[in-house]
Amino acid sequence: MQDDKYKKLIAVMICVGCICVLSVFCSLLQLQNMKHMENRMTFMENMLLAMNRIDPGDKSAEEVIRMNADGTLEPEQYADSADVVEVEQDINMSGAKASAGEYDGMTKICLTFDDGPSIYTDDILDILDKYDVKATFFVNGKEGYDEQYRRIVAEGHTLGMHSYSHDYSKVYADLDSFADDLYQLHTYLYELTGVDSKLYRFPGGSSNNASRVDMARCIQYLNAKEIRYFDWNVSSGDASGGYKSADTIVLNVMSQIKALDADTIVVLFHDASGKSTTVEALPMIIEKIKAMDNTVILPITDDTDAIHHISVSE
Ligand SMILES: [Zn+2]
Repeated sequence: MQDDKYKKLIAVMICVGCICVLSVFCSLLQLQNMKHMENRMTFMENMLLAMNRIDPGDKSAEEVIRMNADGTLEPEQYADSADVVEVEQDINMSGAKASAGEYDGMTKICLTFDDGPSIYTDDILDILDKYDVKATFFVNGKEGYDEQYRRIVAEGHTLGMHSYSHDYSKVYADLDSFADDLYQLHTYLYELTGVDSKLYRFPGGSSNNASRVDMARCIQYLNAKEIRYFDWNVSSGDASGGYKSADTIVLNVMSQIKALDADTIVVLFHDASGKSTTVEALPMIIEKIKAMDNTVILPITDDTDAIHHISVSE
């Protein structure tokens, strides 16, 4: 009897032992499968990153997919939105697209306005309309100017980006901050106007000394997004130093234009509060340019030759 009891006990222990070994084996198998799955996911993630040409160090994979499902900056969440009608603007294209070669051999002058919209945007647009001239606005993200953003686009001007905050300490804190600010402004403009802007002007220009990020990295980031950046080769001087009279601004612009031997001239103005003399100078500048031979005023488009203070190879 005693023996039978021991035999049963041993049999039970063997059974329990077997079950333990079996469950450990199953767990190991499961672990192996998970590892395999994880490897597959990493592989797919890497594939996606490669397709999007994004440095994984720049953004988390999640964010890259959010920003770049088709390799562009277009915010996916608005892609199917019935509220947003996408506006085609070559670069974000302007309504005044030149037919190929139409202005070959002519001096092309692009008037550009940074830092808007402002209390002067409507005045600037009225003047441009009066002279039937298209320009380029490198805007920031501002509340209360919905109508001005839309007017810029509706009247055929090019809408470019100039950072959401224009706060150097934020925009240029590191590459992630630069990318976040860019995304914020791009989304803001897309929601307001439907323009998928592919044009950028760095706050302070590409050669600024304020950035804590190597500007070459910012440029490479834009290159990867197929966003073109433009500096300027003529400065109106309306934002440097103290008060500038309208006459001084006219003289600044016209003397530089005449001294510059270039096919493409990009003039820097500011559309900002306190810049009333820029508005005052604008009609005189347009009239003087229109009086020049073989010269045309155009908005920046895909066809415009780049003006770069610094550039890096892609
Ligand atoms: Zn600026």
